[in-house]
Amino acid sequence: MHTGYDARERLRAVGLRVTAPRVAVLDAVAAAPHSDADRLAVKVRETLGTVSTQAVYDVLRACVGAGLLRRIEPAGKSALYEARTGDNHHHLVCRNCGTVVDVDCVVGAAPCLEPGDAQGFVVDEAEVVFWGLCPGCVTEQRAPSV
Ligand SMILES: [Zn+2]
Ligand SMILES: [Zn+2]
Repeated sequence: MHTGYDARERLRAVGLRVTAPRVAVLDAVAAAPHSDADRLAVKVRETLGTVSTQAVYDVLRACVGAGLLRRIEPAGKSALYEARTGDNHHHLVCRNCGTVVDVDCVVGAAPCLEPGDAQGFVVDEAEVVFWGLCPGCVTEQRAPSV
């Protein structure tokens, strides 16, 4: 699958060694953003054969640490990973089916919101999760199938 995402190049750019599991995990995230580790492990196994879920977690942790991946944790859901980093974008989450959609940040840089009173904290990020129902679930609720 061609996603226009060059995992090898990204790994080299941050000084991480290029390994097959790392490339496979980054490709899987690029192809299916906002996936959790279990879903990514399934995709990685399709490419590489046997890879332990722990190995996938290790790669995810290294890539998040290096800034190649972003980890988001909407309340009550598993951690989700995406390759879109550095633009401080936000997320819409459907309460019903769990669909996650990117929302562009108006400012494009963190923090894009300032608390009224930061109480002495040095704020470097404001992460917004908009909760609601996706269009599919809204339609379903309005017109229940008979
Ligand atoms: Zn939904
Ligand atoms: Zn996102």
